Amino acid sequence: MVTKTLTYENGKILEWKWASDHKLIPSPFFTSTFFVDGILIDAGPPAGVNDFKKFIRSLLKDTRIKLCAITHTHEDHCGGAFMLKQEFNIPIYAPKGAIGPLKEDYTYPQYRQITWGEKRRSVQAQELPETITSISETYQFEVFPMPGHASEQIALIEKGQEWVFAADAIQPKYKMLFGASSDIQEDMAIIYSSIKKLYKYTSNMEDLKIFLSGPGVYEGREFIKQKLEEIEDLHKKVHQFYNEESNRYDDEEKILRKVLKRLFKRETAVGRLTDGDLSIMNLIRSLLEWPLNNS
Ligand SMILES: [Zn+2]
Repeated sequence: MVTKTLTYENGKILEWKWASDHKLIPSPFFTSTFFVDGILIDAGPPAGVNDFKKFIRSLLKDTRIKLCAITHTHEDHCGGAFMLKQEFNIPIYAPKGAIGPLKEDYTYPQYRQITWGEKRRSVQAQELPETITSISETYQFEVFPMPGHASEQIALIEKGQEWVFAADAIQPKYKMLFGASSDIQEDMAIIYSSIKKLYKYTSNMEDLKIFLSGPGVYEGREFIKQKLEEIEDLHKKVHQFYNEESNRYDDEEKILRKVLKRLFKRETAVGRLTDGDLSIMNLIRSLLEWPLNNS
């Protein structure tokens, strides 16, 4: 495995990152846990539990941990939650829609087991309140729903500091989407609407910092604006290409393949390895289901 600990904002924020070193994964694919003044945001993947335990022990040498807030139920964000509760008696909080699923052990396809570990173990979580106060009461985090990547996905926003912990609610680049036969069904129209809501909500924050799981920090609202423009552009192109190819061909699958070819040349290796669960084709289908006059 590969672990990294990074600090931001003069050490006020810690990021603990974990990635598998499995030989089938060409470059480390990280997930992140953040720690701010007694608040843990997310709990790492199942395969990272032992490394995460070491990180928690090192934290507990000079600080206390008030609670862990889970942003959504994907295994790379809540895999260590049972351990936090069992070993350290740390209360686990999660969005309302996550409480039921978190109560059950959970398995998922092999490509995700290779990336994150065999299965996610059950944990009893409490519902996140509207705001969370940090241990020294220095920070107040607002719980901000951002569905789309997962229906229960939330971000945590510290207005005074202008920090947004968005986990997977925003991707640094929109190329592939979960869908097909996966239990993760991402929806571009909903993702776009969540990002737009965040853009409006942060309108007076000039020094905004957006913390994403894996790629880390992005500075300024401009980043959010760029993501909105990127999605709008993809949305327009996919509909335009689809209409043009529909005039040439009748076969729906052929039309979609032509759209994909014009948009990104070819399906990704990940798209093939995951049997289409995480693929460009899902992105195209999701953009097509979203009517064009609606963005
Ligand atoms: Zn996720």
